[in-house]
Amino acid sequence: MTREEFKARLLRPLQRELADGARDRVVAGGLERLLQNLGHPFPELGQVLAGYRQMDPATRRARLEEALRLLGAPTSQASTPAAPKAQELELDTPLEALAPGPSGRKKLAELGLRTLRDLLHHYPRRYEDRRVLQSVRTVEEGAKATVVGKVLSRELVKTPRKGLQLVQVRFMDLWGWKFTGLWFNQPWVLKQMPEGASLVLSGRVQRRGGQVTLMVEYFEDEGAESLSTGRIVPVYPAKEGIGQAFLRRMVWRALETFPKVPDPLEPYRQGLGLPPLAWALHQAHFPESENALEQALHRLKFDEFLLLELKVMIQSGGSALLGRVFRVKPEMISRFRAVLPFPLTRAQERVLDEILHDMQSERQMARLVQGDVGSGKTVVAAAALYIAAQNGAQGALMAPTEILAKQHFDNLTRYLYPLGVSVDLLVGSMSPSEKRQVQQRLKSGETQVVVGTHALIQDGVAFHDLGLAVIDEEHRFGVLQRRRLLGQRPDVLVMSATPIPRSLALTMYGDLEVSQIDELPPGRTPIQTKILTQKTRAQAYAFARQEIQKGHQVFVVTPMIEEGESEATAELAAATQLVQELQNLLPEVRIGLLHGKMKAEEKDAVMERFKQGAFDLLVSTTVIEVGVDIPRATLMIIENAERFGLAQLHQLRGRVGRGGLASYCILIAGETSKRTLNRLRVIEASTDGFYIAEQDLKLRGPGELRGLRQSGMPDLRLGDLASDQEIIEKSRALAQAILEADPYLDKPEHALLKRELQARAEYIGFREVI
Ligand code: ADP
Ligand code: MG
Repeated sequence: MTREEFKARLLRPLQRELADGARDRVVAGGLERLLQNLGHPFPELGQVLAGYRQMDPATRRARLEEALRLLGAPTSQASTPAAPKAQELELDTPLEALAPGPSGRKKLAELGLRTLRDLLHHYPRRYEDRRVLQSVRTVEEGAKATVVGKVLSRELVKTPRKGLQLVQVRFMDLWGWKFTGLWFNQPWVLKQMPEGASLVLSGRVQRRGGQVTLMVEYFEDEGAESLSTGRIVPVYPAKEGIGQAFLRRMVWRALETFPKVPDPLEPYRQGLGLPPLAWALHQAHFPESENALEQALHRLKFDEFLLLELKVMIQSGGSALLGRVFRVKPEMISRFRAVLPFPLTRAQERVLDEILHDMQSERQMARLVQGDVGSGKTVVAAAALYIAAQNGAQGALMAPTEILAKQHFDNLTRYLYPLGVSVDLLVGSMSPSEKRQVQQRLKSGETQVVVGTHALIQDGVAFHDLGLAVIDEEHRFGVLQRRRLLGQRPDVLVMSATPIPRSLALTMYGDLEVSQIDELPPGRTPIQTKILTQKTRAQAYAFARQEIQKGHQVFVVTPMIEEGESEATAELAAATQLVQELQNLLPEVRIGLLHGKMKAEEKDAVMERFKQGAFDLLVSTTVIEVGVDIPRATLMIIENAERFGLAQLHQLRGRVGRGGLASYCILIAGETSKRTLNRLRVIEASTDGFYIAEQDLKLRGPGELRGLRQSGMPDLRLGDLASDQEIIEKSRALAQAILEADPYLDKPEHALLKRELQARAEYIGFREVI
């Protein structure tokens, strides 16, 4: 090695050491070790840095700068990129202020980053700990390592094994040790490493004899500055062609240029033990320690949840809104009880009490009634609608599908007609003249209770005096639709059979109060559930035959393939094929088919015929998911059960056992991985919808909760609805306190918060799907 080569190898570690705060961590084994290995041509360096380990940080820094001067290197600030001079910047300033250059500008735009705010909240996807750069020599066999290597030579190797291509690159690390980097089947990486290039490489180390090989998992250009080495390094969500080094540089510049990010929580921060926002942002991108990173993320999550809670609370109207005051007399309740063929369960009584309490108060009711399928929510809603009618107000019940609307209509008519309440139905499939008639009766007030689908909130529907709105299966409606119905500020009752864990419910619905019907009416035998596999699948249909011979009915559900015309066709083909197969297997059984491509009326007709016993077994895609009662159905077979969410499986299972007959559910696993079986066992072992939903959340992550996904599940960047419960509660309490004091965030101390809420709404937006 020439003197120059030695020098080149010494420079970087010394610069890094300086940038890291002279903590003697950058070089494994200590800086003095490096000098012993590489310092021979520079005896004066040895003197300057002798005893480095024992020096205090200030002395170390001075000595390092001296050493760098001796090597003829620029010192101190040279290791970080120069930032443009601090100007009058704001979070809304476009990123052009950071002078990214034309191609850089394009890259930022491609990532959807337009303003400083966007960039500062473009959080790393993960981090790499590169504080200590290792020498390949000291890394243990099998361990993970991050090393810097200079490319010596490179080649593409075709192995005799079919299809396996190896990129093999010879490197030299900072200490002059040689090693080989290996990439499997990624021939294109060759182009990214010209000879002489310096790369940061992470991967697993393999030692064979004296040879060291690194199975490269991640690599990047070392870059001109120390943002990519010698620290905990951020790895950003990026796209093809947008380098990590570029993003780091831009974020670094943003942080340097704009060090005083204004803190919308300044008035509250200290009371909550939260660090300042500017600090948190800096640490979230370039953490100085794990501990600092943890605190920073905590702060940013808090902000994220706070903005979400504020948004939801403001959207749902806040808790202070005035609503109608209903009068509830004991004889009203006893009249209602008298028409029921059964006594209410204790849970129903309690929930009805909670509802009536809300209706009598002057606050607008916003209550979510959760109860497992069959727990008797409809009866409770009917009681509330009766009270509304007795007060001279109108009531509406909105259901997600026509068949459910009709079922509710039948039930409500049964309960309310004997009590002299006029009930009407309004659904899309009615003729225009029928619809017009109902609309007229609604407008005149002649109709006291109306049941319908979203036809209820279409234009042209006006109520005489809507006092109570009941929404069934909320998750099928976007928040938007709910709000349209709320135009008249009626009391609102939302019924959901999807058991939503409390933390989720609060966050999704803001100030909605939650009631739970946590008890099934007596006399229900729990549904017995069993998991079968492809091998034992035949047992399911043998059992189906037995049930059918007893005069019972069977559901067979096969997973729906989501979205898209071609998928819908494939789904139909799969369902049709299953019908064929079952018909061959069970020639004496009458089989029906229900699928997603059918029109609403066709589906209703099929369900109606099934209910009347026109066939014994119904093959269906998941369109039967909610609500319809088939009293003689005693067996639910679910094919490829692993493709469903646990909460959804639980709901499907609730389709049987609704007529008091012993009932069964068979889950057929399409594959038998440990993960799949563990999930399915939750259903096998429990019939508690809330427990199942919680397990679902744990095992899948909230983002994956099917059915909730498109229902306005909040989209969070950092926060996790399943594991951040404590932060959620605290931010919720603060959101409540803030809005109580300042419902529209009009006070000067909330100006920044209001701006953040407007600007960041889209990061944490609800997906409003209609
Ligand atoms: P949900 O809407 O919660 O799924 P429903 O209100 O449709 O439940 O009730 C399911 C079935 O249970 C209906 O047939 C209903 O008549 C019956 N039911 C409701 N409450 C009771 C009760 N307290 N005792 C007995 N049967 C009940
Ligand atoms: Mg129901």
